[in-house]
Amino acid sequence: MSTTGIMFECSCGEIFYGEEAPEECSKCKKLGGFVQLPEEIVKEREEDIKAEEFEDGY
Ligand SMILES: [Zn+2]
Repeated sequence: MSTTGIMFECSCGEIFYGEEAPEECSKCKKLGGFVQLPEEIVKEREEDIKAEEFEDGY
């Protein structure tokens, strides 16, 4: 079973998937702002992300 990467979140709310957190946030340009999210949180956040995308979709 392969993993799709680890989920990280910046303090500004930007989400990033990957093996390592990016040094710089592409949204707020903050360095080292990303923290790894626990799997339990990830599942909840994925639902939030879908909801946000739906709202932004217009
Ligand atoms: Zn950020």
